[in-house]
Amino acid sequence: MSNPSLLILAGDGIGPEVMTEVRRVIDWYGDKRDLKFDVSEDLVGGAAYDKHGTPLTDETMAKAQAVDAVLLGAVGGPKYDNLDFSVKPERGLLRLRKEMDLFSNLRPAQCFDALADFSSLKRDVVAGLDIVIVRELTSGIYFGEPRGIFKEGNERVGINTQRYTESEIDRVARSAFELARKRGNKVCSMEKANVMESGILWREVVQKVHDEDYPDVELSHMYADAGAMQLCRWPKQFDVIVTDNLFGDLLSDAAAMLTGSLGMLPSASLGAPMANGRPKALYEPVHGSAPDIAGQGKANPIACILSFAMALRYSFDQGDEATRLENAVEKVLADGLRTADLIGEEGVQPVSTREMGDAILAALDESL
Ligand code: NAD
Repeated sequence: MSNPSLLILAGDGIGPEVMTEVRRVIDWYGDKRDLKFDVSEDLVGGAAYDKHGTPLTDETMAKAQAVDAVLLGAVGGPKYDNLDFSVKPERGLLRLRKEMDLFSNLRPAQCFDALADFSSLKRDVVAGLDIVIVRELTSGIYFGEPRGIFKEGNERVGINTQRYTESEIDRVARSAFELARKRGNKVCSMEKANVMESGILWREVVQKVHDEDYPDVELSHMYADAGAMQLCRWPKQFDVIVTDNLFGDLLSDAAAMLTGSLGMLPSASLGAPMANGRPKALYEPVHGSAPDIAGQGKANPIACILSFAMALRYSFDQGDEATRLENAVEKVLADGLRTADLIGEEGVQPVSTREMGDAILAALDESL
């Protein structure tokens, strides 16, 4: 059987720096765990624009469609700010998400013990937190028609439409239940069924998918406003939260920031299963290209490394190896290593991107 395939699109700014450390982790798995990947690399964002005049070529798009998973660094930077909208670096990423039809966006909020004091919430509320928000990514109010700013009598009116079909709700619900089965086996679905018809349909379809195909998973429903409150009050009550595009946008940002630095946050965007049963998938850190620190060896590679851990778990059925990698990250943080973005305490000297990578590899070695 051939090795699973990975396309690496490092992108711009700190993207290539953090991705270099991920490459070393991937190589470690090949050498030490006999878990080999066929890795190819290509350009995206400003780097692709510089070479080809477009932020994503058709050839790269075709490669992304063909591999088992795509791992992306970050795109963008001040150099490209004045480009025409159609060729801005971000368009490359949007094209990938759209053409791969990545409807299920997984945003974990995981709080490593050593960083619990970075949260704006009390330590005991966030220490050990490990939840995932599944946000529907390709429909809902950001896409529904009619939309626009129209003239109505003497004034203008701004309109957006919340619209969900049963099949759109069905597929994202399935993705949340599948995810829950690989984790704590619990899903909380959030909408506003009290005031929105789309919320009523959302709740009905999620319940139906559950009853027919996932009765073993514990399901609860919550209004999204109450959900926001509960996320701040006691987030550890959740395992997987599934919600629509708009509520997911808000709730996932809030939940992610419970845990501290942007340099720590991974994400996954999943689509329909391919012929081999694996979902189409793109993994990327939540952060951008950080032009303010690019090229200085200061970037925290952990968000990108944890994105690869998500790939191990969700694309390659290597949950134990994903846990090994997360434990290695946990260990280096517990040992006190900090990149500059994680420096809170006085007197702690920051380590470089490479030194953080070295320490994670050493912790992986120790785990054997
Ligand atoms: P950013 O995430 O790049 O940076 C915000 C702040 O966080 C900066 O101070 C940066 O130094 C810091 N930071 C981010 N990641 C870090 C890391 N791994 N380690 C240490 N510090 C880190 O957001 P921004 O400054 O708003 O945007 C910069 C560029 O990135 C823009 O061109 C923007 O369009 C682009 N962007 C791209 C993506 C993406 O590729 N998915 C996401 C957001 C922003």
